[in-house]
Amino acid sequence: MIDQILEYNKSFVAQRSYEKYLTDKYPDKKLAVLSCMDTRLTELLPAALGLKNGDAKIIKNAGGLVISPFDSAIRSLIVAIYELGVEEIMVVAHSNCGACHMSFSHFHEEMTRRGVTDETLDVIRKCGIDLDSWLEGFKDTPTSVRKTVETIKTHPLIPEDVVVRGFIIDSVTGALEEITEEQ
Ligand code: ZN
Repeated sequence: MIDQILEYNKSFVAQRSYEKYLTDKYPDKKLAVLSCMDTRLTELLPAALGLKNGDAKIIKNAGGLVISPFDSAIRSLIVAIYELGVEEIMVVAHSNCGACHMSFSHFHEEMTRRGVTDETLDVIRKCGIDLDSWLEGFKDTPTSVRKTVETIKTHPLIPEDVVVRGFIIDSVTGALEEITEEQ
């Protein structure tokens, strides 16, 4: 597949197909979106939010989550705010997310089948990595969105004037539902 992509890439560049995407690194809408890597969202997410190339910093991982206060998602947001002028952040989880129902026991089975030994897992655990929770699904999507929004909002390195709001996007229709703080 990658070789086919490389082949396509040559004609993309040769035909100057990039010209309609020309922009710079600063997000015109001063917006960052933290979302899931799900393939259903690849085009649907920017289309449903009305975002074109150059509008927003889009940060993606499995689930659209902040897992810990100094993980790669937070690092990217800090770069987006301080280096690139982002003023508003949307956390956008989605319906039927694959990362919702993950369980470590399933990963364990598959890892064993692919040659990862329990000794290796033990060494990783001894290094302080809680594999079971690291690879466990978040189960309840609204609660997970609230948690990620809260971690960003209360982060000591995120300025208080940055707006942070949480949403769940419908993976089929693209409809956004805002997830507000629990009353
Ligand atoms: Zn997902």
